[in-house]
Amino acid sequence: MKIVVLPGDGIGPECMSATVDVLHAASRRFKLDLDMDHDIAGHESLQRHGATVTTALLDKVKAADGLMLGPMATYDFKDEAKGEINPSKFFRKELDLYANIRPSRTFPGVPTRVEPFDLVVVRENTEGFYADRNVESGGSEMLITPDVVISLRRITRQCCERIARSAFALAMTRNRHVSLVHKANVLKIGDGMFLDQCRLVAKEFPEVTVDDFIVDAMMAHVVRAPQRFDVIVTTNMFGDILSDLTAELSGSLGLGGSLNAGREHAMGQAAHGSAPDIAGRNIANPFSLILSAGQLLGWYGQRKNLPAFVAAGQAIADTTVAAVAAQEATRDVGGRLGTAETGQAFARRLLEA
Ligand code: NAD
Repeated sequence: MKIVVLPGDGIGPECMSATVDVLHAASRRFKLDLDMDHDIAGHESLQRHGATVTTALLDKVKAADGLMLGPMATYDFKDEAKGEINPSKFFRKELDLYANIRPSRTFPGVPTRVEPFDLVVVRENTEGFYADRNVESGGSEMLITPDVVISLRRITRQCCERIARSAFALAMTRNRHVSLVHKANVLKIGDGMFLDQCRLVAKEFPEVTVDDFIVDAMMAHVVRAPQRFDVIVTTNMFGDILSDLTAELSGSLGLGGSLNAGREHAMGQAAHGSAPDIAGRNIANPFSLILSAGQLLGWYGQRKNLPAFVAAGQAIADTTVAAVAAQEATRDVGGRLGTAETGQAFARRLLEA
């Protein structure tokens, strides 16, 4: 498997370096023959190539089997005409990575405000309220007068149908329960269409229990009793917000994995951002990126029917639980190690298991 590795900005290089240690260990233990091709994106690419991402890089990623994208300083990238392209949006749109799979679970040893839980947010990734990706050309936010802005949201049957299918297929491998999250009481047409398409897909999965929640009430339900949920499927913006909440409920934003998957390509990516406030101090938690790397291996294994990759993905998820319990982790989740040492300890643990 060939993986393009792009470390990113801020804490990205530190977290990615720890993740690459883990991928090397997984490759050795499970005989995956991983081939990692290191390149650049974000600020470093902007300085060297005049753009945060380039078409040459896209071609390389298209030819590879997977992409690991470090967190990017997205907020700094404001003007695409100056090469300041949001790399995350770029790859999601260009590779049609429509399903953002964000698991959240509690970890023994990490204190939380809630009961133990294990759920996955399945977020539509290519349309919705995201002004940078829901129109063919330009953006979908307009300054009508200096004091008036209109932001458009795009919802299509095709995107609702395919994200619903991802959620129900995932639920069949878990506890067979899908919760639909929407705002159909206000966005009657768009979220009405989302609900209709989800319910149509649900008919193909009669073993799966389906319920639905209005997004604002969902925030209360998920804080009150996250253990009620298994797979949650929703539109882009709601999923972005909800999945940060569920990751933080599990103990830390640094514990949330995130895979962006399409039919042909997939990209592992941390749930968090570039965290400039802690960059360069060897204190960032690398688990989010490590878990995402495990998800990428699992996705590849399922797609190519390669059990060793599926086993490696599962071993990375299991080793995270063991490492956190043993406090072989960064301080934000009760550990005592730096970012680099956390990656090294993780790699050793994975090899010894
Ligand atoms: P952030 O996620 O970078 O940080 C939020 C808070 O969580 C900060 O206090 C930070 O120190 C902490 N944190 C984040 N990751 C951590 C980790 N691995 N270990 C320990 N603590 C961690 O959000 P922000 O500060 O709002 O954004 C910073 C930059 O990241 C912005 O430019 C934003 O646009 C960008 N961003 C990028 C992505 C992405 O690349 N997918 C996602 C979100 C934000």
